[in-house]
Amino acid sequence: MARTTLSFYRYVHLADPLLLRNSLFTTWEAMGVLGRIYLAKEGVNAQLSVPTNMFQAFRDAVDVQAEFNGVPFKIAVEEEGTSFSKLIIKVRPKIVADGLADEAYDTTNVGEHLDATTFNRRIEEGALVIDMRNNYECMIGHFEGAYLPKADTFRGAIEEVKEVMTLRQRQGEGLPEVLLYCTGGIRCEKASAYLRHHGFSNVGQLHGGIIDYARQIKAEGLTSKYKGQNFVFDGRLAERITDDVVSTCTQCGTPNDRITNCKQHCCNLLLVQCDACATKYANCCSPGCREIHTLPEEVQKQWRKGRGSASAKSKAITDPEALRDLIRHEEELLSINGTLHPELTSISASTLPNS
Ligand SMILES: [Zn+2]
Ligand SMILES: [Zn+2]
Repeated sequence: MARTTLSFYRYVHLADPLLLRNSLFTTWEAMGVLGRIYLAKEGVNAQLSVPTNMFQAFRDAVDVQAEFNGVPFKIAVEEEGTSFSKLIIKVRPKIVADGLADEAYDTTNVGEHLDATTFNRRIEEGALVIDMRNNYECMIGHFEGAYLPKADTFRGAIEEVKEVMTLRQRQGEGLPEVLLYCTGGIRCEKASAYLRHHGFSNVGQLHGGIIDYARQIKAEGLTSKYKGQNFVFDGRLAERITDDVVSTCTQCGTPNDRITNCKQHCCNLLLVQCDACATKYANCCSPGCREIHTLPEEVQKQWRKGRGSASAKSKAITDPEALRDLIRHEEELLSINGTLHPELTSISASTLPNS
């Protein structure tokens, strides 16, 4: 059966998210809707798939809900990698975790939404472009000349951007128009509302984010001012927008944009790694991780006991210099001691007789 994958979100006040959740679940489940939907007092954020023959019925069911009436659907172009196995509708404190108090600002007072053509033109007219993603998402691709936050959380990035804008405003010529962008547009809703609340009214945002920008660029034959790859939160980690390589290997510094996780299970750090370094470090971030990762699986399991695996949350290496120092230091220790993990001797001894 053909299915249509789509997403939508809206910042809108929901008086009783739980009540709404239960009624949506009943209606949508009957239509065969699958996906993950978050409801909060501040709005809705939905990723789902609908049997294609039910699409119009679903559209109507959404529109009948006053708070959701007319909400734009973003239809996924490709079906792969976006399949859902069940319908999950959750009530959460927030639809985007931002660490900011609800009362801090009005989330529906947002900036001007711009399409790709307008966004490009405003850049040419001298707007200040700001990336609202975390540092590790900006690494392998971003708009030319954009300000890239150093923070690794949305809360951090939003505060950092506010400070940068305040500083720019105080300097002689004042603040030009500010253009925000993120992956799918939802974080900019929040960021622009927050910045407007703090007196920055001249803020625009890329409608539909990088994902829809890439689609428009392709469909309309426009020049992409976004260079490199777009970081995505599924197994692929990245999708290519242009052939430009805007980053360097975290380990050796040569131009490269292959983003990957350290394969040592307890580490899992995100890094940019060239093929030569992947071979040299056995797909790991450091000699310390390599030593563990290249052990027999049974010994690795023993070693991992009590350590707990790395959280699914993305953590990235954002200080390549520090990593290179660590690598040099570890290689040195390794050549002197033959190991970076003295604790392994006891594990190997206890594991070997059984294997
Ligand atoms: Zn390298
Ligand atoms: Zn590692």
